[in-house]
Amino acid sequence: MQILPSAKRPLGEVIGSVLRENVLAERDHPPFNRITMDGIAIKYIDWERGLRCFRVVGLQGAGVPPLSIIEDAECIKIMTGAILPDGADTIIPIERLTWEDENVLVEDTAIVSKGQYIHPCGSDRIAGSQLLSSGHLIGSPEMAILASSGNSSVRVTIPPRVAIISTGDELIDVGKKILPYQIRSSNERAIEASLIHHCQAIVTRVCLKDDPIIISQAITELHDKNDILILSGGVSMGDYDFVPQVLKDLGAKTVFHRIEQKPGRPMWFGVSKSHKPIFGLPGNPVSTLVCLTRYVIPALKHAMGLNTTNQETVRLTKKVLFKADLTYFLPVNLSSDGNGVALAHPRPTNTSGDFISLARTKGFIELPQGQDSFNKGTSARLFRW
Ligand code: AMP
Ligand code: MG
Repeated sequence: MQILPSAKRPLGEVIGSVLRENVLAERDHPPFNRITMDGIAIKYIDWERGLRCFRVVGLQGAGVPPLSIIEDAECIKIMTGAILPDGADTIIPIERLTWEDENVLVEDTAIVSKGQYIHPCGSDRIAGSQLLSSGHLIGSPEMAILASSGNSSVRVTIPPRVAIISTGDELIDVGKKILPYQIRSSNERAIEASLIHHCQAIVTRVCLKDDPIIISQAITELHDKNDILILSGGVSMGDYDFVPQVLKDLGAKTVFHRIEQKPGRPMWFGVSKSHKPIFGLPGNPVSTLVCLTRYVIPALKHAMGLNTTNQETVRLTKKVLFKADLTYFLPVNLSSDGNGVALAHPRPTNTSGDFISLARTKGFIELPQGQDSFNKGTSARLFRW
């Protein structure tokens, strides 16, 4: 899948976006010798020669130019965030001080080391060094770094436009009258939630009847206005499963149809004539969400330029048997064993139609094909919803 375009956006609009430029330090970090405690600034040599009473010659707050101490036994009263006064090299915190008119006395028991409570200029990063690289997801630490770099706007991935086309003669949207043999259409809502949560996608949803002409028209129209298409339902072998044929008739290239996995075996994936990705997800709600999370979301994150390697692993809390020779995606809940090991509690669903049981789960684990038994303690890859 091709990398999606990027654009400069104001800082206030980029929370949760993918950064698409390297960000360099505008200045040293910290940009000056920054005081980290309220107290007094002294010359360490005065302390070393036994001086415990200092003459206060000024008050140095944050955000003002540095004062200076010139004579022996002088000090400056100083506040956190201020620049170190010229001539001073050590801070004694306020808790160790007693004020007497122009003078200040330091407790006999105070322990003072040279340079203490000063965050030296450039000790975190020097000006021009790289603070963030393209591909970072912008969360709160990244926002702080962006603001500190002095740029009012930054280049990020333009949110992907995704069309979700749900198909099925039995499907009825919320708010509409429903008959006993019909189903509330829920897949497109679940897909939308995941796309917004993971990718900040701009989503268009439609729910269509199993009619090849209607499906074909919708695909044609939505294809041009979106970066990717996700279809739900109608990709299996039934008489009303028109989606793969409609896509082929529209000139889309089938990359694969059917995967050796459960749930989600009938999944279809291909590319349109203009190279846009099209995912045909099986309609069973558990299959839809598993395929979306396992394939579509990682593909979309890659296309958004996100530098991510999902290698989150968890350990099974009990033995799992799985007779079919397929990759098995097993819904799980999570906990920790108290020693920092993440544990997966299997929560199998009744069928791949039983999406109600997913409400208790955090995601699913991938148990590889070619094995029919997985012992307690087996380490498996986790995919979060
Ligand atoms: P299909 O993949 O079209 O064969 O559908 C498989 C099963 O998933 C059927 O029982 C459908 O009713 C159900 N299903 C398909 N699409 C949806 C949807 N949008 N919402 C809820 N269930 C669906
Ligand atoms: Mg169907």
